[in-house]
Amino acid sequence: MDRCGRPGESSSEEDLELYLTKLCSDVTLYSPKEGFFNHYMEQIDAQVSQDFLDKFGQLKSDEDRLLKTWGVKPIHTLKVQSFYRQKSREVSECRREEGNKAFQEKKNGQALVLYSQAVVRAPHDEGKSLALALANRSAVLYHMDEYHLCLTDIDLAIQAGYPPNLMYKVLDRRGQCQLQLGQYNSALLAFTAAAHALATSGLDKKKLESWKKDLSIKIHSCQGKTDAGDPAPSKTTSAILFQGSSKVLPNASSALTLNTSKDEGRYLVARGPIPAGQVLIAERPYSAVLMDDKCGSHCIHCYHRLVAPVPCPWCSGVAFCSPRCRDLALATYHRWECKFLDLLKGSGVSLNCYLALRVITQHGLPYFKKLQHRLNQPAIMPSASCRQNPNDYLSFYHLVALEESRSPRDFFQRSLLATFLLKVLQRANFFGKWDDEGPPDKALTEDEVLVGRLILRHLQLIQFNAHEILRGRQDGDCESSTIASWGRGS
Ligand SMILES: [Zn+2]
Ligand SMILES: [Zn+2]
Repeated sequence: MDRCGRPGESSSEEDLELYLTKLCSDVTLYSPKEGFFNHYMEQIDAQVSQDFLDKFGQLKSDEDRLLKTWGVKPIHTLKVQSFYRQKSREVSECRREEGNKAFQEKKNGQALVLYSQAVVRAPHDEGKSLALALANRSAVLYHMDEYHLCLTDIDLAIQAGYPPNLMYKVLDRRGQCQLQLGQYNSALLAFTAAAHALATSGLDKKKLESWKKDLSIKIHSCQGKTDAGDPAPSKTTSAILFQGSSKVLPNASSALTLNTSKDEGRYLVARGPIPAGQVLIAERPYSAVLMDDKCGSHCIHCYHRLVAPVPCPWCSGVAFCSPRCRDLALATYHRWECKFLDLLKGSGVSLNCYLALRVITQHGLPYFKKLQHRLNQPAIMPSASCRQNPNDYLSFYHLVALEESRSPRDFFQRSLLATFLLKVLQRANFFGKWDDEGPPDKALTEDEVLVGRLILRHLQLIQFNAHEILRGRQDGDCESSTIASWGRGS
């Protein structure tokens, strides 16, 4: 075997198995795409001695591994800086113009795509390109009978500073949507506001009179009408577990029982025969990340396919299905990850590494500082007297990571990745304002050590506990994977 573990012609079966184990482990760290991290790892690997790796293999805790890796000077040559798809007013305006052309030609689908590109690329703090792109998209959505999405775009356009002299147009469109939805009281308010907004429109006399007349008819048509009742709330399609929910594992069927053994860890066993087609486990992932190539077509928060993407205020690399998803993501993980997404993509690290980071960014530093004292407590197996809590971080933290079976090199690789992700968090001001002028190898603070060692722990356990999420199609086939996630099953 050579230094990297590649078996030669005379290698034994055992050597071959070791090599294959390493290869399988590596794919949990690197994506199939080329990236700089693999080369960086090889460079660092060439600079550390076998003696260093042997000693590294004897370290007993993730904290020691992290600190030892941080002390390797060459690792700090990697420059971590924000790198993301930025906004562009020029691109946004160009797409909006193209959208206008498609809309005039009644190519609504094409106009929607172009206006959406204009929305996603528009800067939020400069000029009116965002407000205009949203307002134009609301027009095409109205023509596509997407009234709820149209109303959202109108709200967003107004929030983005839609010009007062054009306000009557979007208020009129708001009223028309509400009319279509049977919301006569709201429509009446919108048409009335549109009529008031005509005062600042600057329209010539003829157009002004025409608009006044039109709005007056609409206002009259809403008066005295009763709003249609709220539509029935859409049914949530939660799966029905076979024989009901387990008293030990709330997201598993009571037809299953939890066993454990030294060799196989935790596993589920059927109590008796189970008919085909029954649902045995239905659990939301504890954490999940969207595949890179779906970021333009799916909401990064809930993974629904995008119709009228709601943009991130800072980057153009992701989008959301609604202001709600946007706000939830911005309040948690995306505020830290936003400006480093292209760096992470370019690094070539695997989706599992994103997941290791996401578990940190979705909670934030105060969360981990608060539960720090519980990390050293022994794992508690779910039982009849201690029902599993699927949302408890410690249930995730104590998943099987097979530390005892890892080679020193595997540990070193994962520790290197942990330091890279830690550097990303430092630069994202996750630990407070990062000093760009300071040395990159500055001694880690207590908070940084805590988070760094947790990332290292995640990188180990996610290797065996991450699952791809597939979207099923009605014909029974499976569409290609749309989302990779970690599903927290035991
Ligand atoms: Zn969403
Ligand atoms: Zn962003």
